[in-house]
Amino acid sequence: MRIIFLGPPGSGKGTQAHLISNKYNIPNISTGMMLRQSFPKDPYQSHKIRKNIINVMHTGNLVNDDFMVQLINTRINKNDCYNGFLLDGFPRTILQAEFMKKYKIFVNYVIEFVISDSTVINRITGRRIHINSGRTYHIQFNPPKICGLDDITGESLTTRKDDCEQTIRKRLHNYHQYTEPVLNYYRHESKSKKIQYFSIDANRKITEIYKELISLLINK
Ligand code: AMP
Repeated sequence: MRIIFLGPPGSGKGTQAHLISNKYNIPNISTGMMLRQSFPKDPYQSHKIRKNIINVMHTGNLVNDDFMVQLINTRINKNDCYNGFLLDGFPRTILQAEFMKKYKIFVNYVIEFVISDSTVINRITGRRIHINSGRTYHIQFNPPKICGLDDITGESLTTRKDDCEQTIRKRLHNYHQYTEPVLNYYRHESKSKKIQYFSIDANRKITEIYKELISLLINK
């Protein structure tokens, strides 16, 4: 099963990606998480490049396409992706989507998480993250068992630097400008029937969205 989750920041993609990848035992490939974690041995992440990337992320902009396609290409060619994968945060531009087609990285499902900008802005300020694992929480909608601590490791949770309102507005702007054309690209691709495209209402409880995803992924 090869799945792409598309949606604006704060639409709950990351939370559902975690649940769905566990359910189907496929790797959850979040490009944002890959960029946030440090890979000292990764040849693509020399100190200077890494500093640049962090700067781009903190200002709410997109990391350049060449770097992203190299990153994803290396990741998808690993053995654990043999039976499928879930992409959360890639492709985010038409060029990235076209790269996948060119290199014959086919997918079965594209799921769009639909949510308004105003809901995203309200939601995102309550988001907390465990950097090492990428697990995300929300102080109101999905709180950790112990306030401020990751459920599994007990380590401290932090707020992402790019989760402030000004940066969120920039990320939403980029989503509308660069990623919405990707939605249209896959809607069009789904006419061939090889890809199934679904839009889901992301302004619901985590459990409701999860149930819908399971029904879509199983029944079709
Ligand atoms: P996310 O965790 O998915 O919200 O991603 C955090 C940030 O990482 C984004 O705002 C971008 O700066 C960067 N990023 C993640 N995935 C991509 C991508 N596919 N293309 C370009 N930039 C990306």
